Parts: sequence; structure tokens; C-alpha cells
Amino acid sequence: MELTLNNGVTMPAIGLGVFQSAPEQTTAAVEAALATGYRHIDTAAAYGNEREVGDGIRRSGLNRSEVFIETKVWVSDYGYDHTLHAWDKATGKLGVDYLDLLILHQPAPDRFEKTMAAYKALEALLADRRVRAIGVSNFMPHHLTQLLDATDVVPAVNQIELHPYFTQPDVQAADAEHGILTQAWSPIGGITFYPGWGEERRNVMEDPVIGAIAATQGKSPAQVMLRWHLQQGRSAIPKSTNPARIAENFDVFDFELSTDELAAIDALDSGNRNGPDPDQARPERFAMVIPEA
Ligand code: NAP
Repeated sequence: MELTLNNGVTMPAIGLGVFQSAPEQTTAAVEAALATGYRHIDTAAAYGNEREVGDGIRRSGLNRSEVFIETKVWVSDYGYDHTLHAWDKATGKLGVDYLDLLILHQPAPDRFEKTMAAYKALEALLADRRVRAIGVSNFMPHHLTQLLDATDVVPAVNQIELHPYFTQPDVQAADAEHGILTQAWSPIGGITFYPGWGEERRNVMEDPVIGAIAATQGKSPAQVMLRWHLQQGRSAIPKSTNPARIAENFDVFDFELSTDELAAIDALDSGNRNGPDPDQARPERFAMVIPEA
């Protein structure tokens, strides 16, 4: 299933996420995903595995143009010239000469002028056809307003924490108002059960409402959540390094959730974010240096 971005570029709705995929596992995961039928990979400079993503794509034997490559600029590379150079680092590691989608990993609330300058560099990369689309991640409505006031190109995508326990309707509405595609990170709720991230978290994978829908549909909870994203028009980028789960997460195109089932999943939203608050300044993030290619 393809989604059309606001500049006419098409993007496969389901992509493979690779956050916390160890470099030595990433190449095999990407290869497995591409063999299964995925044509979209979501990585980031900060994940430290762009090189292995590129290796996996080359090992698949597919042409570069058949795979939609999305990556992210880390905050320590914000600022106009630094962000232009971040493209060199990313493409050098991936071993490609263009990117399909390049997004800012998060707003830097304490250095918002640098965030704006970074986005202007993305606009220049787009004009030079070194990226086919540009976007943002973890932007809240007020960040979008500030961005749209200061720049020319409306982001194609806003990638945000979005799973049944945290749906951010305000961000989804702001995205829709501006023609920005909402892309779900932790689409099957990974952040509600990342090992070592706090045992008290409610694991959405074990939610009884989702379990009941999965039983009715003869599908798994992960498949039900992915189908919910697709039917509501979102892109989703589930992460797995396990070949069986990679295949399971792509086997979501042969069933349909009813209106009542979609509403029952919507009703699970707790309004509580699991990931970091995008409005909280985190100066320590600027200390992480993204290596050269
Ligand atoms: P996720 O995709 O919702 O969940 C991943 C977790 O679920 C992993 O522990 C994975 O383990 C497990 N899993 C995968 N498929 C499963 C299945 N079918 N059944 C049961 N468990 C399954 O969470 P995520 O990794 O946080 O998010 C996905 C992607 O979004 C990331 O990889 C990254 O690309 C992106 N992301 C972006 C941001 C941002 O700030 N922009 C933040 C977080 C994530 P196994 O690998 O063992 O299968």
C-alpha cells in the first residue's frame, strides 16, 4: 500500500524501523524485510546503523530506486551548514547518492533557531534533488506553527509516538490541516515494553481489547495495531530483527477492521506519552557526535 506525500512522491505505508537494532543484526533484518516485500526502511543518524541498512539494501539485489530510504538528522547536526553536511554523512554511510525522505529527528526547544536553520538546509537539499521529500519528527502543533511561519516547504511527514495508548489527536489534526502525513513511531507500542525502560509501564501488546479483536480477526495484536494505522491513513514503521515477526508485521493487507473495532482501539488512548517530551530542553543530546561517513 502506497501513500502519496504532499509533493506527489509516493511512499510505502509500512516501513521497517531499525531503532535499537544492533548494527550486526541490522543488515540481516533489512535483507529479510526486503525479501518479504517491504520497500521502505526508517533509520536515523543517531541509531548508528545507516551503514548496515545500506549493506542490507545492496544484498537484497533490488535497485536503489525500488527502496524508499528514510533517515533523520540528529540535533547535534542542526544549523544550516551542519545539516547540509549531515546529508553527506548519511548518504556516505548508506552508500547512496540521494535520500527519499530526510527528517529532523526532533525539535530542539532550547535551540529552536538552529532547528529552523536545519530545516532550511533540508529545503536546499530538496531543491537540489538530493532528497525527494523532507519532514520532521516529534513536532507538536506549536512547533509546526513556528516552522511554517519561518520556512517555505510544508513538511511531507511528521513522525511521532503513536500507538493505541497514545494517539496525539491534536498533532494528527494539525498534521492533517497542513497536508502533513502522520507517521507512527512505536506503532505496535514498542516503547510500552522496551526492556529496561520501566517495569510499571502498561504493555499495549497485552491489552485485552486488542487481544479480543485479534482473536476475532484471526490475526496477532501487532497486526491489528498496524491495520488500525493503515485504515486511518497513517504510515507505520514497526521494528523487528526477528524474521518471523518482520513477516508477520507485513502480513496486514488481507483483512479489514470494522468501524466499531477502530473506535474501540481509539478509546484506549491514555493521553500519556511514554517517550521524551518534545518541549523539554535536553542539552546533553548535543553532546552526541554523529561520526563522519
Ligand atoms: P515498535 O516497532 O512499536 O516495537 C518494536 C518492539 O516490538 C521490539 O521490541 C520488537 O522486538 C517487538 N516486535 C516487533 N514485531 C512484533 C510482533 N509482531 N509481535 C510482538 N513483538 C514484536 O517500536 P519502536 O522500535 O519504538 O518503533 C518503530 C520504529 O520507529 C523504530 O525502530 C524507529 O525506526 C522509529 N522510532 C522513531 C523515534 C523518533 O523519535 N522519531 C522514536 C522511536 C522509534 P523484536 O525485534 O525482537 O521482534
